[in-house]
Amino acid sequence: MNKIYLLLGSNAGNREVLLQEAVKQIADNCGEIVVESSIYETAAWGMENQEAFLNKVLQLDTRLLAEVLLKKLQAIEDNLGRQREVLWGPRTLDIDILFYNSDVISLPDLKVPHPFLQKRRFTLVPMAEIAPTMVHPVLHKTIAELLEECTDTLEVAKWS
Ligand code: ADP
Ligand code: MG
Repeated sequence: MNKIYLLLGSNAGNREVLLQEAVKQIADNCGEIVVESSIYETAAWGMENQEAFLNKVLQLDTRLLAEVLLKKLQAIEDNLGRQREVLWGPRTLDIDILFYNSDVISLPDLKVPHPFLQKRRFTLVPMAEIAPTMVHPVLHKTIAELLEECTDTLEVAKWS
């Protein structure tokens, strides 16, 4: 069994319903959801003149290989109306693989641990809620330490 952390994000459409539906489809298609963080509302990162995101982190147990998991998650994004137009632009649903066990994966279409996670409070805050002591396999620091050191200033507020 593999231990995965996923980041879900939505900033278009009915954001909360989209996150709930994504959780359901992940549970139905990808494995067992073991822990869910709260939902946080976060100002958009990268391209800041767009609607705020709702984000949450899930811990999933799965037997799927990383590349197979990525394909299933992309199919769920597509099911929930994702249009791939603008990099970092508005999206009904984004699902990123943050960690896959402590594996380091560097394929053209899959980088794990997610290369931006230490730069993004919207990822570190929900991760720190459910896995503060987890050690990043490349940076060799805990999630709590990475959050402490993160210089991102975008507000991340607990939403529900
Ligand atoms: P972003 O999540 O950075 O806003 P997208 O969701 O549009 O961007 O993803 C762009 C590409 O990122 C996808 O086609 C996917 O192959 C690639 N990718 C690389 N590493 C990961 C990862 N760890 N999780 C999800 N997608 C990833
Ligand atoms: Mg993505």
